[in-house]
Amino acid sequence: MLYRDGLTREGIVVDVIIVGAGPVGLSLALGLARAGKSVVVLEKDPGLHTTSRAPIIWPRTQEILADLGVMDRFESASIILKQFTMWNADSNHKLISLPISELKDQTHFPQILILPQHKTEALLYEALKAYPSVQVHFAHEVTGLSQDSESVRVRYATNGTSESEMVASYVVGCDGAHSAIRAALGLELDGITYPLMAALADVKLPYNDPNWVFPRLSVKDVPVVAVQIELGEWRLILPFTQDESITMDERVRLSVKNLFHQADYSLIWQSEFKLHQRISPQFALGRVALAGDAAHLNSPVGGQGMNSGIQDGALLCTALVKAIDTRNPALLQPNAEMRHAKINFGVNQFTNILTRVVMLSKGRYMPWVLRILNLVLKIPSLRQKFLMKLTMLGD
Ligand SMILES: Cc1cc2nc3c(=O)[nH]c(=O)nc-3n(C[C@H](O)[C@H](O)[C@H](O)COP(=O)(O)OP(=O)(O)OC[C@H]3O[C@@H](n4cnc5c(N)ncnc54)[C@H](O)[C@@H]3O)c2cc1C
Repeated sequence: MLYRDGLTREGIVVDVIIVGAGPVGLSLALGLARAGKSVVVLEKDPGLHTTSRAPIIWPRTQEILADLGVMDRFESASIILKQFTMWNADSNHKLISLPISELKDQTHFPQILILPQHKTEALLYEALKAYPSVQVHFAHEVTGLSQDSESVRVRYATNGTSESEMVASYVVGCDGAHSAIRAALGLELDGITYPLMAALADVKLPYNDPNWVFPRLSVKDVPVVAVQIELGEWRLILPFTQDESITMDERVRLSVKNLFHQADYSLIWQSEFKLHQRISPQFALGRVALAGDAAHLNSPVGGQGMNSGIQDGALLCTALVKAIDTRNPALLQPNAEMRHAKINFGVNQFTNILTRVVMLSKGRYMPWVLRILNLVLKIPSLRQKFLMKLTMLGD
């Protein structure tokens, strides 16, 4: 347990308790640690996660990773793409190609990093070890909280048994879509669920052609997009899985056959889910704030979910540091309103448009949609605007 020197308020053991050791909680902990704040991260699971989930890291997030002093580690661990290209595996043609390097005047990182999410989390966790003012406690499930004008009291259960309490100046719920912290604040995610089911499957190929660098698409039997997340390991993204006439196993088999022209593969992991666009009406109440999936969920089309969470956490970090330094919790409120507006009119709007276009394409017309987009984006001003949105560098 951490104890700060020179306590002014009885019982406060730490500046900030972060609930949840996902990418948002860990990156926020690192930001606070670098600003000299004491942090406890409480994570209900017994250790770090092991599944790939969000593999794309856009330039705006890379800028944050650079500020956190970890960009070198991320660059050496990732596959780096300098352009956003989609290859049509059915016709063996390029469908669209957008040079991210065109943004070199807008960012130090005009590139896409591809890294499975569990590796992102592991790199952030590793970086935290350099800061004795941060402790990460696994197998600590937060069950509730109460706050007054001076502090926040968090209740947690260790290994599902006895309950204990810890007191902090501030608490941040980075505890994902089913956030216990959001529930404790009496807030719910408002929004919509799209009439579209999708599935993800990671497969390992025994033969991986070195020329298969860019994402690949096929609509021959089932619509599928594939992204290489590690050498020889591909993430299959399968929209329109609500059609139950084809089993998931069959979808994966057909996808591998059409995308890579081979029958052999091993399935690493798969998951089927609904697509949501939801947001909490408030991102902070008193001394408690929400960030990441706990505060907002967006459609995964566009790969901006984890990215928007890390960016949201970075914005919150600045306000938290000021609030701690000036002992003024009221600073969290304008920050929460700014973060809410940024998500509502930024990532939520953009991913909503992308999702509606995918729905309209009914899957089989996706190559046509991408060809038309490629033509439209030959106009430099439109291409610049689209790239800024996609890479999350623009508002
Ligand atoms: C199957 C799947 C595939 C995905 N694919 C993509 C993708 O391709 N692109 C993309 O951008 N996004 C994707 N996402 C979404 C992305 O993973 C999330 O946006 C991202 O993980 C959000 O990070 P977070 O830190 O806010 O929440 P999470 O990663 O959900 O982390 C929350 C953490 O809080 C912990 N926790 C929960 N409750 C408690 C509690 N009471 N006490 C203590 N700890 C608690 C959880 O165990 C977890 O470790 C995917 C998600 C899933 C599930």
